[in-house]
Amino acid sequence: MGKRAVRGVRKVQGDGPPVSDLIPARPSLGRVRAAASGCRACDLYKRGTQTVFGEGPSKAAVMLVGEQPGDAEDLAGHPFVGPAGKLLDRALAAAGIDRRRVYVTNVVKHFKWEPRGKRRIHERPGSAEIAACRPWLETEIALVRPRVLVCLGATAAQALLGRAFKVTRQRGTFVPSPLAPLVTATVHPSSILRAPDEETRRAEMDGFVADLTRVAREIGRKER
Ligand code: SF4
Repeated sequence: MGKRAVRGVRKVQGDGPPVSDLIPARPSLGRVRAAASGCRACDLYKRGTQTVFGEGPSKAAVMLVGEQPGDAEDLAGHPFVGPAGKLLDRALAAAGIDRRRVYVTNVVKHFKWEPRGKRRIHERPGSAEIAACRPWLETEIALVRPRVLVCLGATAAQALLGRAFKVTRQRGTFVPSPLAPLVTATVHPSSILRAPDEETRRAEMDGFVADLTRVAREIGRKER
């Protein structure tokens, strides 16, 4: 589908085919990741360095879904490798979850940013960009089939659990969803990095670890 075919569709649509047309007929994580690397289904491909697809074991018990790759992830081409990823690693370890057994991904696969001086500042993806990218995430979920799916932050939670979902009120609880046997949400690790002072940061980290510990208990229960 070229520019002509998307006339009349909101500008967020890029100049490539929609994601649903790119998903291989016999998908595997490797094939889907390769297909996503050339995605131009929304305009974000023009801003990001590359598609940052999810990573982790193909049959991971836990899938963590964030908002979008950040600056470091955009450059590295891997999810959760920047400062927020390092904090996530520490929180997973504190909760007793082996990061190597977790699949990590985002609802949007390109970094959306705006320039501020020489810096690239995170810009929240819009609902049309989230909708355009969603089939990649749905395919990841269908292939990995995690027992527990954890939304990290409001963007992921509202994209997957509905706009009425409030992370502040409902974090750490398991909510009914067709996405996985157990679905929950907690804060995004980048929000902990933005805490105004050390005391708040410590309290937020404790809450994050407590939410992940509930997840660890559930996978431990299954494995016993
Ligand atoms: S953000 Fe998603 S839909 Fe948009 S170009 Fe990137 S991979 Fe494709």
